[in-house]
Amino acid sequence: MPIRGLLFDVDDTLFDSGSEAASVLAYLRMRGLLDRFGDSAAALGLWRELKERHYARFLNGELTFAAQQRERTRELLARIGTSTEGGLSDQEASAWFAGYQTHRHATRAPFPDAEPALRKLAPGFRLGVVSNSSTDHQRRKLDGIGLLPYFGDRLICSDQHGAAKPAASIFLAGCTALGLQPHEVAYIGDNYETDAVGAHRAGLHGFWLDRANTNAAGVDTGVRVIHSLDELQAALT
Ligand SMILES: [Mg+2]
Repeated sequence: MPIRGLLFDVDDTLFDSGSEAASVLAYLRMRGLLDRFGDSAAALGLWRELKERHYARFLNGELTFAAQQRERTRELLARIGTSTEGGLSDQEASAWFAGYQTHRHATRAPFPDAEPALRKLAPGFRLGVVSNSSTDHQRRKLDGIGLLPYFGDRLICSDQHGAAKPAASIFLAGCTALGLQPHEVAYIGDNYETDAVGAHRAGLHGFWLDRANTNAAGVDTGVRVIHSLDELQAALT
């Protein structure tokens, strides 16, 4: 049976989070905090360390999406010695992070191949999103970069679903949102294990978007590799 539906990862697949570094540095500079770090690399290193650690706590259900943002803010400011004793209140931490997000939204961008690929694929396939994130957050992001109309309300995110990729259940929920069986659906994502292998194990067609052309993972049988979304339509047939 042919592929009739496509589910996409968002970050680093449709949305270029590479612009995050510039946003982080600009926000820290604007807040007068950048000179607290040895250099830009140290600032980005700490930002990424805290994001990775506290986002993992969100993904395993320990923290809400908003709470991981507050924890990152509290620890960042404590580590550079600017927060008051006892740390920031929830309100202060949320306000600080909201300032960053406002700044970030202004510089958001999709990958140049994302919109043209979706426009080409939309007439022939049902399209949706499966993401390890908050539904509201990803809806706003996709709206901000102009891609939301391609997906409508077919956004399955781990916060509402209750489990994160590579759990099979979240891929299957995506298929249900499209009204299709797993073998009729392809999943496209930039993370080999979490996206492509996870989808493949759940019974979908797993496509690994290897933008950096690393091919490093030693691709499993059953996982297809593309290097750009421009290649997707041809790879589906
Ligand atoms: Mg991704």
